[in-house]
Amino acid sequence: MFFYIIQYNQANAQKYEFRNEKVDISKLSIIQNFDNLVLESQKKFDNTFDIKNDGSIQRYLSDDNPFKNTWYVPSDLQSINSHFTYNKASQFKLRSSAAIAFADMAWWFWDHFDKKSKFYIASAYRSFGSQKNLKNMWCKKTECADPGSSEHQAWLAIDISVAKNWNIVQMHTWSDFYKWMDENAYKYWFHNTYQKWVDVDGKIAEHRHWRYLWVPFATYLHDNNLTIAEYFKSFKL
Ligand SMILES: [Zn+2]
Repeated sequence: MFFYIIQYNQANAQKYEFRNEKVDISKLSIIQNFDNLVLESQKKFDNTFDIKNDGSIQRYLSDDNPFKNTWYVPSDLQSINSHFTYNKASQFKLRSSAAIAFADMAWWFWDHFDKKSKFYIASAYRSFGSQKNLKNMWCKKTECADPGSSEHQAWLAIDISVAKNWNIVQMHTWSDFYKWMDENAYKYWFHNTYQKWVDVDGKIAEHRHWRYLWVPFATYLHDNNLTIAEYFKSFKL
């Protein structure tokens, strides 16, 4: 089993140069026997992935699993530092490691599509208050997270479309853009939270919504064709 590690080259930060290196997972002690770990008890699972603390990168959020602290705000926020998005990335913030990983992914995406298509960022952070307004105004239960349970409030989620030849194109499952994301986003630690509709994920499919995760976890979900909701339900949280 292999996964990708992003190595951020400080010296070349201005050039947005990153290096992806395939790493033998067995050499990393923290995730040795990963396949065995995920089959063990919920207790072991909780100890492996910090799914319940508000500040955790792996925090599972749903209408039934909201933040303990309703007004939670993480301490490590950072503007996205990339010239490879269609609109100005720096006006959007994510948690520090998520912002770096997203900037890396944006470069690879742009490079893959002949340097002609870029991410268009529609939304990143939403506060408890703005999520509440969204729900009050128009958003249905099956379309938006309840206030206090949004991955956007965790500063881990980003909604993206694609700008191609000055047109904004939505992420559709049949598009090459989504296919690239489906096959590659986990390498940058991102996961499409809502892809299997209401009965599975609790919300309708939202192919533009990508959530940052710990890389072994994102890789596991990708390799086993699972959504994060599906996976957590199997542990009867
Ligand atoms: Zn979203």
